[in-house]
Amino acid sequence: MNNNVLIIGGGPAGLEAASQLQRLSYNTILIEKTDKLGGHLAKWDRLFPASQPAKEVLDTLLQNVNGVKCFLNTDVNSINVLDKSYNVILSNGITVLADAVLLASGFDLFKAEKKEEYGYGIYDRVITNADLEQYYETKYDSRIQNPKRIGFVHCVGSRDEKVGNLACSKVCCATAVKQACEIKQEFPEAEVYCFYMDLRMFGRNYENLYLKAQKQYDIRFIRGRVSEVSEQQDKTLLVKAEDTLSSKPIKITLDLLVLMAGMRPSEAGEKIGNMLQINKEDDGFFTTKDSVYSLQKSNLPGFFFAGACTGPKTIPDTLHEARSSALEIHEYLVKNFSDKK
Ligand SMILES: Cc1cc2nc3c(=O)[nH]c(=O)nc-3n(C[C@H](O)[C@H](O)[C@H](O)COP(=O)(O)OP(=O)(O)OC[C@H]3O[C@@H](n4cnc5c(N)ncnc54)[C@H](O)[C@@H]3O)c2cc1C
Ligand code: SF4
Repeated sequence: MNNNVLIIGGGPAGLEAASQLQRLSYNTILIEKTDKLGGHLAKWDRLFPASQPAKEVLDTLLQNVNGVKCFLNTDVNSINVLDKSYNVILSNGITVLADAVLLASGFDLFKAEKKEEYGYGIYDRVITNADLEQYYETKYDSRIQNPKRIGFVHCVGSRDEKVGNLACSKVCCATAVKQACEIKQEFPEAEVYCFYMDLRMFGRNYENLYLKAQKQYDIRFIRGRVSEVSEQQDKTLLVKAEDTLSSKPIKITLDLLVLMAGMRPSEAGEKIGNMLQINKEDDGFFTTKDSVYSLQKSNLPGFFFAGACTGPKTIPDTLHEARSSALEIHEYLVKNFSDKK
């Protein structure tokens, strides 16, 4: 088919949609603002719930886009709606006349330093979930020195009125439980605590992972929000929380604190949304045409979504959406551009 489809974002959503659209024989152009494809998946080590290596999934996605025209280090400078198409000027100077555009701009990780009371970027031994994934990939982080007591703080930047985000990030409970098990495997003598509000272990086999964390790895789950963290002279962390099940205050000394930073709307995606006045929800993620039947459509004809740009989701959900988006785009192009076949 002679239609041009532009995909913005080379994470799991953009890669999977590109592979499907290429199979449907569209001229597919994928742009990625960073210097490599894979989005956040390229930053993760192993995936919940079964600890599948992230690299395995990424390699499959990359193999499937062999032959798709990809521009790295490329963003959108401007995008305008023409009669039935989109005139897009890319930051590499190339202009694309796209018959359909798929926004797959994903999410940004919540900036943990905004929760000053947890001391990220201030205290040496406070890290994030993303830092821990990086540690497992590179096998090095100077902040992780044979810790004996480790804490995980759930809901950092999510479900939190103080940072203006009441939404749940969906994936960080499962990530915390997975990472708690992994760190216990690496440091079997360590005591590991998870401070949670509710545990949202909603997916298949997630509950088994939680049971394994309790029974096999002896992870201790404490229901309560951490209120304060301070660094002591020997660099250990004094953590104050309230156990809301027993209604008792807790004070505990830890060697390492891992913050479960949540998912926020991508700033680079938002910039494009603003150029076209794409509708957004109160949480900043893009609004789909309706909330049941048209999850891939936006308020503009020919402009579609896939993946985490419409809200937090897992990789399997992202990939399913990307396939649906490719089909929606195909249906749209067949209906509106039958003369181009
Ligand atoms: C700590 C953590 C751990 C996780 N672990 C798991 C797990 O184990 N299992 C699981 O199922 N899910 C996991 N997830 C969720 C998973 O990361 C997401 O489901 C997935 O990354 C969503 O893919 P995406 O393509 O929509 O977005 P992203 O991965 O964010 O990719 C978006 C891409 O678009 C690019 N982009 C953005 N804007 C532009 C622009 N204007 N121009 C060009 N390029 C642009 C970005 O650079 C990026 O490469 C985890 C999430 C977090 C926060
Ligand atoms: S998934 Fe869990 S840690 Fe993440 S915001 Fe929701 S309740 Fe909090």
